[in-house]
Amino acid sequence: MSVPLSLPPARRTLRTAADLAAAGLLPEAEREAAERVGARYSIAVTPAVAGLIDPADPADPIARQYIPDAAELLTAPHEVADPTADAPFTPVKGVVHRYPDRALLKPLLACPVYCRFCFRREAVGADGGVLTEAELEAAFAWFAATPAVREVILTGGDPLMLSPRRLEAILARLAALPQIELLRIHSRVPVAAPDLVTLGLAAALGRIEAPLYLCVHANHAREFSPAALEALGRLHRAGVVLLGQSVLLRGINDSAEALEGLFRTMLRARVKPYYLHQLDPAPGTARFAVPVDEGRALLRALRGRVSGLAWPTYVQERPGGAGKVPLGPAFEPV
Ligand code: SF4
Repeated sequence: MSVPLSLPPARRTLRTAADLAAAGLLPEAEREAAERVGARYSIAVTPAVAGLIDPADPADPIARQYIPDAAELLTAPHEVADPTADAPFTPVKGVVHRYPDRALLKPLLACPVYCRFCFRREAVGADGGVLTEAELEAAFAWFAATPAVREVILTGGDPLMLSPRRLEAILARLAALPQIELLRIHSRVPVAAPDLVTLGLAAALGRIEAPLYLCVHANHAREFSPAALEALGRLHRAGVVLLGQSVLLRGINDSAEALEGLFRTMLRARVKPYYLHQLDPAPGTARFAVPVDEGRALLRALRGRVSGLAWPTYVQERPGGAGKVPLGPAFEPV
């Protein structure tokens, strides 16, 4: 997102440790370490997200998702740069083909915010990584020549950072392929930059002829601000089917209460909880890890406590790009 740098911090995206310190979101004592983190991994906190953070709470679950921490400079032995193994499954630039019937298209690698636990943190960033026209044409040609692929998942980066016209053009090209049955977009924008979900964007998505699912990434109930709810309402009214995906994160949603609040809030926003991801081991993210047994116990605690509609599939990516597996919890039959 391009914003004039002359605006005061409260009105523009905060992109440096100095910005965060000036906005009162980073203690001065942590600024130097955050600058070193920022030299390696992009920082971005939109005005919408900054407005959700309680600077007086050192354990604020929104701040923990976005404010850089010195721990990011340490890579644990099990952490790897490309934990979902996108690179070996990339037939042409921007495409990841891991499963027979579906493939990812990453039209850009920029995001409205940069999550400190991101599994693509070595790839995404403020540089943008936008596919050129020629690269996009090569991607379209690959989809046209691969009839087994029936579903295209636009991800990145965040595809809703594209202009509505460009996004509509990409989706329309894909929808025009005879074998394409489904289109899906993965996005943080409705909660992190809801002002980008304009009526124009909603109308553009509503014009797509294939069924369109939008999978919203959110990890805490507080991310569903009034502006986010309005943005999701615009998408819903345009005919976009809304799903939710979350990551199980230490200090953010690692309690039955926090998960219940998140999934109930999603449903009220017409977002069906779809996936709860086990953290992928990207570099410098170990402080967010919740063991699988603890994750299973949390989901078990939710069973019966919330509607089945509020129950996502708890999944983990297998190493080497072998795909997702559900983690349960399993229940014994009576
Ligand atoms: S929005 Fe998604 S791709 Fe972008 S930094 Fe966050 S987790 Fe990564």
